[in-house]
Amino acid sequence: MSATSVDHLSCVVYNSSYEPLSVIRSREAVVHLYEGKATVIEEHPSLVFRSAKLSIPAPTQIVLKEYKRSRPAFRAAAQLTQRNLFVRDKYTCAYCNKSRSNLGHKEFLTRDHIVPLSRGGLDIWTNVVTACNKCNNKKADLMLSECKMVLLRQPKIPSVFELWSKSSKSIKHLPHMSEVC
Ligand SMILES: [Zn+2]
Repeated sequence: MSATSVDHLSCVVYNSSYEPLSVIRSREAVVHLYEGKATVIEEHPSLVFRSAKLSIPAPTQIVLKEYKRSRPAFRAAAQLTQRNLFVRDKYTCAYCNKSRSNLGHKEFLTRDHIVPLSRGGLDIWTNVVTACNKCNNKKADLMLSECKMVLLRQPKIPSVFELWSKSSKSIKHLPHMSEVC
């Protein structure tokens, strides 16, 4: 793999209590290891950091040796993006419960505003749900009571950790903190 891949690799930092704290660059994690502040939980199977004298497997999960008392960034509310919205809703329509894998030809997932923007609704976590384009078109600019549609789940504000847990834990899908908070 190229040097670029290892440079963009993320690493999850766990507190000494094994509570997830943050996601940092794998390169920064190497510094924590080198300084003796953390130990490795998991390494990338093939990516390696190389210097003239050293060859270190790229860490993907590390745990701090001493408990850190700062507020874990993972508990913070996640940023509302299209991808984070779909992850929160497990890529499933909030009205017909159709999942991404069951979408038909010319069907796709969208962001639906429960109280439409045109009716004063806000673009916030508690007013948006994942909806297939058919349900979104059907709902259009109507309130739920007007279109007789029912929400299958009440939308909530997800934490960074919740989204991280729901998203694939494979390394390439790990959200970096810049994306999720
Ligand atoms: Zn639908």
